[in-house]
Amino acid sequence: MIRVLLVQANEANIGEASLLSRELTARFPVPLRVEFPIEEVVLPLFFYNFDRMQFRADLVNKYLYDKFKFLIDKYFLLVVVSGDAYVPDLNFVFGLASPQLRVASIYTKRIRTNPSRYVERLLKLAMHELGHLLGLGHCRNECVMRFSNSLAELDEKPASFCEECISRLRKFYNLYVDNEG
Ligand SMILES: [Zn+2]
Ligand SMILES: [Zn+2]
Repeated sequence: MIRVLLVQANEANIGEASLLSRELTARFPVPLRVEFPIEEVVLPLFFYNFDRMQFRADLVNKYLYDKFKFLIDKYFLLVVVSGDAYVPDLNFVFGLASPQLRVASIYTKRIRTNPSRYVERLLKLAMHELGHLLGLGHCRNECVMRFSNSLAELDEKPASFCEECISRLRKFYNLYVDNEG
């Protein structure tokens, strides 16, 4: 069983957290359980760039890893942050996965522009970044693991994995469960 801790940061108020959790569980090709932490997280501003009005996503992931280190051998951490983010050399990112840390963050500012598409976009980002955490790279098929660098590209791709990614996820899962003992 893959256990995902879904954390809301900076009053992300995803609102649809239980919907997101239900959809993730239903759409993932391997058994997955989503849990919520007791406390809400507020990100410190020392990795917020005030000129760009964006978080440094890689530093956010490191911070969250440190904060939840005591849980990280049991969970994969998925953090929804209210705000925008970047990494060096990119203008912005919708999300960033750090597989070695088992932490991924996704950012809601850009996907909120169209309220009727918000939940679907959030779901795609969550599936994509979790896919990275579970060993997937980017994919050229009709697949949620396709790289998307604009809202148009994000809206275009499906909220599902292709057959190749599904079989990779199943392999990852079998190894993971073996190691868990
Ligand atoms: Zn990606
Ligand atoms: Zn794929």
